[in-house]
Amino acid sequence: MQKKALITGLTGQDGSYLAELLVEKGYQVFGLVRRSSSGNLDRINHLADKVEILSGDLLDQSSLMDVITESSPDEIYNLASQSYVPLSWTQPALTAEYTALGVSRLLESIRRCKPDARFYQASSSEVFGQPDESPQTEQTAFRPRNPYGVAKAYAHWMTINYRQKYGLYSCCGITYTHESPRRGTEFVFRKITHAAAMIKLGMSQDLKLGNLDARRDWCYAKDAVHAMWFMLQQDKPDDFIIASGETHSVRELVECAFRCVGLNWEDYVSVDPSFYRPDETVQLVGSIDKIRKQLNWQPQYSFEELVELMVDHDLKRLSEK
Ligand code: NAP
Repeated sequence: MQKKALITGLTGQDGSYLAELLVEKGYQVFGLVRRSSSGNLDRINHLADKVEILSGDLLDQSSLMDVITESSPDEIYNLASQSYVPLSWTQPALTAEYTALGVSRLLESIRRCKPDARFYQASSSEVFGQPDESPQTEQTAFRPRNPYGVAKAYAHWMTINYRQKYGLYSCCGITYTHESPRRGTEFVFRKITHAAAMIKLGMSQDLKLGNLDARRDWCYAKDAVHAMWFMLQQDKPDDFIIASGETHSVRELVECAFRCVGLNWEDYVSVDPSFYRPDETVQLVGSIDKIRKQLNWQPQYSFEELVELMVDHDLKRLSEK
């Protein structure tokens, strides 16, 4: 029988890739989308006739119950959240409403309307904040250092609590930063690949960045959504870190992106200390031992391949303008 999946955050980066994957696998895919006066379907326009959009909002319990009842999904992927860390400082209460309490509302809706559905919660490496060990594992203590991380930690533990208390098949994927051509340019990886393409095409002259020595664990969003799907295909629910397992510095990223367009990055990039993150979380790197052993998952794309595909995408898109 055809499986049914409900994705919240369908219009986001991960939601769009996960929808593609599930359609490819033969699922009937439903997406929970909140109303927007200006339209927010850019990332999923190409899936318009393959995905059924249902109107709902993480802020509204009854809309979640209606959407779950209507779609009656076998699997629910909660990818919706206020996902931008700096905004969580200027809108901390709203971030908690979406990213923390929204998950309570969703879990409660599942418990009441479709308790046998399998549930994936998008946790984040931001729950570790300033970790006391590196690499982090599924056992590493949570020390979130921003309202987004605090909200994700709450959602993480609620997901586990619903599993333990009510026996829901609910699990958390602790993802580290993952990128793609569908990522916004406010995130440093896309900011750099996009800027390299702009400069190459003569559409921009320079690029200002913060700490070039900051290191991150980056992987490709397409790889990450595969891991999410694998997690819900197991006999028992469990939590996993989803990461590349390696770090690269912003400097390496800049070098690689400018190399892809045949330019020397030092001619264009300057450091602006005002971009330094005062509370920068350093050496966040995930151990992928558990997911590799238990799910046989590991990223298919290398750091260099990811940079290259993103630069190529921006070059092509900008050239068509
Ligand atoms: P994203 O591109 O920012 O997408 C967020 C999605 O959430 C959008 O579809 C947005 O809808 C939706 N949303 C926000 N508030 C909502 C609400 N109140 N009700 C319903 N939908 C709402 O995020 P992403 O990069 O795909 O990330 C997916 C998930 O993974 C998020 O939970 C994020 O926090 C987490 N995560 C991401 C990363 C990463 O590197 N990408 C790393 C760790 C964890 P609109 O289109 O209407 O705004």
